[in-house]
Amino acid sequence: MTTSSPAAPPFVVTVRLPEFLPASRLHPGDSFAFPEDPTPLIILNARPDYLYSGFLRLDIDGEDLPLCIRETEGIRPLRLPRTYELTCQLCGHLAAGRIDIAALGEPRLLICGNH
Ligand SMILES: [Zn+2]
Repeated sequence: MTTSSPAAPPFVVTVRLPEFLPASRLHPGDSFAFPEDPTPLIILNARPDYLYSGFLRLDIDGEDLPLCIRETEGIRPLRLPRTYELTCQLCGHLAAGRIDIAALGEPRLLICGNH
């Protein structure tokens, strides 16, 4: 999944995330906060709750007990590193990268570094 050593980094058009996302969007390694509490929480592990359907169990860095949260509950995303793979709009070249979608938005369109 490497690009053929482009001369410049790609230009990526992103769409800003809403202020709150459902908890189901969270992955291990993400950081988020509850709407009423700005304390950042770092997720070590995320999995469906085995007792209650529609709930997630999140292991939080520094917390002994997992957090049980409804999948639809709104959380404030702080850091959501994600990989993307998009085709260049001009030449069809496939480019991949990693981006914090909480800070920079979700990648939608890409112009590769060959233009
Ligand atoms: Zn291109």
